[in-house]
This record gives sequence, C-alpha cells and structure tokens, in this order.
Amino acid sequence: MADPKDIVAPAAGPSLATLGIDAARPLVIVDVDEVLALFMEGFGRFLEARGLEFRVDRFALFQNIYRPGETTHLEIEEGRRHYDEFFRTACGDLPPSPGGAEALRALKAAEAEIVILTNAPGPARMGRARWLGRHGLDYPLLINSGPKGPAVAALAAQTRSPIAFVDDLLPNLESVAETTPHAHRFQMVADPRLQPLAPSTPERHRRIDDWAELGQAIAEAIRR
Ligand SMILES: [Mg+2]
Repeated sequence: MADPKDIVAPAAGPSLATLGIDAARPLVIVDVDEVLALFMEGFGRFLEARGLEFRVDRFALFQNIYRPGETTHLEIEEGRRHYDEFFRTACGDLPPSPGGAEALRALKAAEAEIVILTNAPGPARMGRARWLGRHGLDYPLLINSGPKGPAVAALAAQTRSPIAFVDDLLPNLESVAETTPHAHRFQMVADPRLQPLAPSTPERHRRIDDWAELGQAIAEAIRR
C-alpha cells in the first residue's frame, strides 16, 4: 500500500516533481496570451488573412471580430470557430512580448522555478510548446480551461515556498486570490493597444505592463 507521505499530487493536477520542479524554490506561474505572447496581434493577422477585421476598441475577444465595413461583430460562435482554428493551425505565429523571456531567465537564474499555465484548446499543446521553446520560454507547460484558481491551488498545495502568479485577465487573478490568497498576483497586459482598455483593480492585483519592471517586482515579492 502506498505510504501517504509519498502521495504528493492532488487529484486535480500534476505533481511539481513530475514537472521537474524543485518545491524548495519559489514558484512563478505565468500565462501566455497577452502576457508572454502578443495574442491580439497574431490572431488579428490570422483573421485579416481570412478577410476579417480585428478591431481593438474594447477589451474583448469574439466581440472584436468584424467583416470589413460592418458595425456589428461576427456571431460569437463563428468567432469561436476562428479562434479554435487559430490554435489548431497557427498559434506558432504569435510575436513574443518584449522582455518576457529575459525576465523569466533572470528569475530562473535567481533560483525561482517557472511554470507556464495557459488556457488554450487541447489541440494547441504541441504548437504552444514549440512556440515557447522557439522563443526561449522552454518551461513546464500546463494547459488549463476555465478559471485558473484550482490549478494554482493544486500546485501551491505541494510547496511552502513563495508563489507569484501573472495573468492579463481579472477573472483569473480573482480566482487565484480566492483559492490561493498567499500567492503574489500581478496583472500584465502586453499589447500597448489593449493596455488602456483592460479593466484593472490595482489595489487587489498589482498591474505592471512592462516585463523589465515586472520581473524585478516578482523577484522582490518572492524573495524570502
Ligand atoms: Mg492571457
């Protein structure tokens, strides 16, 4: 019978050991789209190649897709089909966010562990992993769906080290605040066109849109 002390992985997620992560080190959990990757830019180009327009006039996804000249956005379901198709075939074309890879490399050099936690359709796994590797972001990759709090809590349950969490979306930051209140939360919105449009609650989650500054703030937060 298994010794209970050997059972480190909660049913909800993988074990840190399986991911090759040293639980004695601080853990930095980072999103991809609009944090390490300029998602709107890449997805916008993908849509343009299909004769559509991606208008960045509000902080939204499917509501920003139009046929040229029209004032009503595409049906949400049609937008979702393009989104799924993008992840299936083209998510390797995203530009990386300036300074992201360097900031994570510096954190890793300062003995933090990095995990990439991305909400992406399952078929995107290989494309996403290759994209990360190609851009100097070859860290353990977890694919999630829905709010990120449960996945972060599952990782946090395996370590007593400080934890930082970075995402562009308030619902994910709120979800982590609920499940893992001791995690240091940072909101980062990489695309300069989205920065003025993105909702923020800086008194709850620190907002830093520049990777050089964000990397330093994370390093200070997780320093023991
Ligand atoms: Mg994101």
